[in-house]
Amino acid sequence: MTEGILTTAYIAASILFILALGGLSHPETARRGNLYGIIGMAIALVATIGGAQVTSYVTLAGCMAVGAVIGIFVASRVQMTQMPELVAILHSFVGLAAVLVGFASYLDPEIHFEGVEKTIHEIEIYLGVLIGAVTFTGSVIAFGKLSARISSKPLALPARHWLNLGLGLVCLGLGFVFVGAEDTGSGLIPLLIMTLIAFVFGVHMVMAIGGADMPVVISMLNSYSGWAAAATGFMLSNDLLIVTGALVGSSGAILSYIMCRAMNRKFLAVIAGGFGTAGGTATAGSHQGEVVAISAEETAALLKDARNVIIVPGYGMAVAQAQHVINEITHKLHDHGVEVRFAIHPVAGRMPGHMNVLLAEAKIPYDIVMEMDEINDDFPDTDTVLVIGANDIVNPSAQTDPDSPIAGMPVLEVWKAKTVVVMKRSMATGYAGVQNPLFFEANTRMLFGDARASVDAILAGI
Ligand code: NDP
Repeated sequence: MTEGILTTAYIAASILFILALGGLSHPETARRGNLYGIIGMAIALVATIGGAQVTSYVTLAGCMAVGAVIGIFVASRVQMTQMPELVAILHSFVGLAAVLVGFASYLDPEIHFEGVEKTIHEIEIYLGVLIGAVTFTGSVIAFGKLSARISSKPLALPARHWLNLGLGLVCLGLGFVFVGAEDTGSGLIPLLIMTLIAFVFGVHMVMAIGGADMPVVISMLNSYSGWAAAATGFMLSNDLLIVTGALVGSSGAILSYIMCRAMNRKFLAVIAGGFGTAGGTATAGSHQGEVVAISAEETAALLKDARNVIIVPGYGMAVAQAQHVINEITHKLHDHGVEVRFAIHPVAGRMPGHMNVLLAEAKIPYDIVMEMDEINDDFPDTDTVLVIGANDIVNPSAQTDPDSPIAGMPVLEVWKAKTVVVMKRSMATGYAGVQNPLFFEANTRMLFGDARASVDAILAGI
């Protein structure tokens, strides 16, 4: 493939990736956005395989076959509820790739620069390995926390901020030693030590973050994986990888900002860790009065008699895969003249946009799916709210208890409606590990059971 064709292919792929991001910003255009992304990636792959940098097609084919088999195996087995963990582990691969490419690029005897170019190349390697190593271990811990293999409680080491600062300063110092090293042999030691420190830093950074703040970490690691890919692009002198990495890095950074705003957190404060410590007054399992249970038949009657209904989906709806039946309930209520809308909290579920994806999959019309800011003032005028497997995002203690781990996080004010029906299996807490006073409110009714079985019974009763 000539240089000209390669450049044209890379520009076409870059444009398609930008169009993909634009498409993914709205549910109605998301499918088209995905298609642009797939075509862009196909062009990028073909152009890279045909490029002059490939020296052994056998090695390349072998590596691609291994990657493809693992990818197909994992993707065909993963449940929708495991998608966030899958995304986290895929981010870790990008980080590890940046570390490996960094070392390979440094040790490659054929890559030789002099003077300023040498310094620039070594800075690229150092930063690429640093970001890659933090992304790798941080994403592995995020995978553990999202799959409940590791507790979602934050690890609060004494003097953790000083520890972070110390690690950062040591990495900075090692960077000077690395860039000033005379030969590869003496530069390898500071690079290796920094890599180990960055691995530890990645673990510590994500371990220190409480359950409720995980959305920020997920989007932040997404951003880091982009910067790691961009750094890999610099090391390999691959323009497309630089552009793609920068796109992922900057869109991840914007997402982190949106998540911070949605949770009323300061980005630096989240990264410093410690939020979400289960030290609030409303801790897991503490009882706060009596709860009133309701049956599915009674819930069906409440819904049918209502003028208007707001449905609040949460992580439990994803677990129960209740969204398709919810769609049928919505249609039936609509036929009875009941106005039905959905209220989506920005951090509902376990990944950004989780609920929007599920509702779109169930073909729920976009115009009745409202963001929190659009609908939060409407609860006082609402007859019935149906909370399906949501907990933290409807927890009033975020507003009333300054010691709560989720204090300050904006929540859907469902308790202001006439009646609230909460569907869940038990009195267990949500992801943040905080008890929810909503369950004990006078206008709250608890519909216990698996959300799928409950919505089936409600549908039958309408
Ligand atoms: P929560 O995790 O707070 O609550 C989900 C509730 O669903 C649980 O209380 C559980 O109660 C119930 N549930 C689980 N399975 C079922 C089932 N089969 N049937 C019925 N109920 C079920 O979810 P929310 O969506 O309210 O809040 C999201 C939380 O996750 C927030 O703390 C957020 O910060 C965090 N998070 C969000 C991410 C994102 O990007 N969106 C990423 C990482 C974390 P029970 O066991 O009693 O049934």
